[in-house]
Amino acid sequence: MSSTPEVIVCDPKPMGLLQRLYVIEVLKGLGVTLRHFLGNVFRRTYTVTVEWPEVKREYSERLRGRHILVAREDGSPRCVACYMCEEACPADCIYIEAEERDSDSVEFEKRPKVFEIDLLRCVYCGFCVDACPKEAIIMSRVHEMTFTTRDESVAGLDVLLQKKPLRKEDMGYRPYYGKPHSHIELPIPVKPGGLLG
Ligand code: SF4
Ligand code: SF4
Repeated sequence: MSSTPEVIVCDPKPMGLLQRLYVIEVLKGLGVTLRHFLGNVFRRTYTVTVEWPEVKREYSERLRGRHILVAREDGSPRCVACYMCEEACPADCIYIEAEERDSDSVEFEKRPKVFEIDLLRCVYCGFCVDACPKEAIIMSRVHEMTFTTRDESVAGLDVLLQKKPLRKEDMGYRPYYGKPHSHIELPIPVKPGGLLG
């Protein structure tokens, strides 16, 4: 059974004489502007903005910044080139080419020869992190990025691969945050030092 959609009629209130003259309304508007201006100049009463870059906002631990491809102890990517992140990506901005790994290990038989993310197409949804069965891709807290050419926005292994030991404060959205009082804080080795070089 179809029902007739409810129609809401919005009739504006008729304007009075003073409103139709506009001058009074304009002056009232300027008064509001002046009140906010003076309030901000002397007491910062109405300021809701942050004076970036001098002042930075506190972001959630789950911030989704530029990706990190987690490295093994030998510096090679933990990624096994399974393409699951590429499949899960709604923006179609991941490009992977696989190659055989120089190892007898069946578990790690493949690795990425090319792993690229177009950081301008990426919508920073974190689906690639969720899809990865190896916890090989996580997100950093790096979200202030500038590019001067379109090519620069495509980050390859040289940019994405973890270069230094991961610090918890450098990591954003990731599969596992550790439990309080757990001796296993993270599946990824956390050592002092920086993350991105
Ligand atoms: S964060 Fe989302 S859009 Fe960006 S690469 Fe991952 S899956 Fe694709
Ligand atoms: S899902 Fe993980 S292991 Fe698979 S290709 Fe992506 S980053 Fe590599």
